Amino acid sequence: MNGASFPWLDEAWRAILERRRSGRLPHGWLFTGPTGTGKLDFARAFCQAIQCESPQAQGVACGQCHGCRMWLAGAHPDLMELTIPEGKTRILVDQIRELRDFMSLSRSHGPCRMAILWPADTMTENAANSLLKTLEEPPGDAILILVSAHASRLPATVRSRCQQVKLALPSRPEARRWLTEAMPTVPAGDLDALLALGHGSPLRARMLAEQETLSQWRTQLDALLTLLQGRKGVVELSEQWHKLPVDVLVDRLQILMADGIRRHMTGGDGSLLSGMATSKDLQVLTGQLDLAACFRFQERLLEWRRLSDTPINPQVLLEDILVTLLDLAQT
Ligand SMILES: [Zn+2]
Repeated sequence: MNGASFPWLDEAWRAILERRRSGRLPHGWLFTGPTGTGKLDFARAFCQAIQCESPQAQGVACGQCHGCRMWLAGAHPDLMELTIPEGKTRILVDQIRELRDFMSLSRSHGPCRMAILWPADTMTENAANSLLKTLEEPPGDAILILVSAHASRLPATVRSRCQQVKLALPSRPEARRWLTEAMPTVPAGDLDALLALGHGSPLRARMLAEQETLSQWRTQLDALLTLLQGRKGVVELSEQWHKLPVDVLVDRLQILMADGIRRHMTGGDGSLLSGMATSKDLQVLTGQLDLAACFRFQERLLEWRRLSDTPINPQVLLEDILVTLLDLAQT
């Protein structure tokens, strides 16, 4: 266990601790990595560790000192978190001005002022420009941490002024181990399926388990296979699914179709499959869709993913997906 709580971040934790020991902490940091790596927890653990008055082994915050107690109560005067305001979709320039004011004040308790800004890639252009000024002329010894799963969307000028820390997802066995400990009562097959639905992130998998996503997905898969076998119609299914967000469906179908392709190409070697469908279900799927059909459908999924971000009527999109699937099965 390290300061960031997640074993797959151990190495990154050691690296930033090394920077701290060297006594040269950069003013601007950028923590990046896929969704579900634990970037924000990592950033928070880093802040708490810096503010802690008696850090433990491996630089972990003690959780007992005055600084830690204020932090745990969410009331540390030298720490600020900034994210998308309620009812908005972006981080706004006014917030960056507030951030600059906060960082310009002298520290009141800990060794320096610190702020976390997430998801940093949602800043408006004005906000990013304003932030750039703060990064170019950092006030005092303040530290700013940007957190983003889509760092390439940040202006290069912002990125280049930050120390980048790339956080990665754990390997599948490591993710399985962590998830087994976190959810000991969940059957192994379900853990695999949840990890697949969570794109390999154990944190996302745990969240999906809490939302009962797996039983929803299994019902959806069952309905899809029923459609492919001609025992259900497109209209009936699209009516049933009218509340299902198309991007979520597309996401799941992409993982499923990749499994279909792997099954065709490897003859069903289970170790290569994501685990989101049973081998029996995949047998039904690949029995209806040959390899070429799986590839064709996978290509179309990329188009639908793009279209799902546009104002196109989701019901039209959903019907197009189902009709295409049925067409491919019948050829
Ligand atoms: Zn402490």
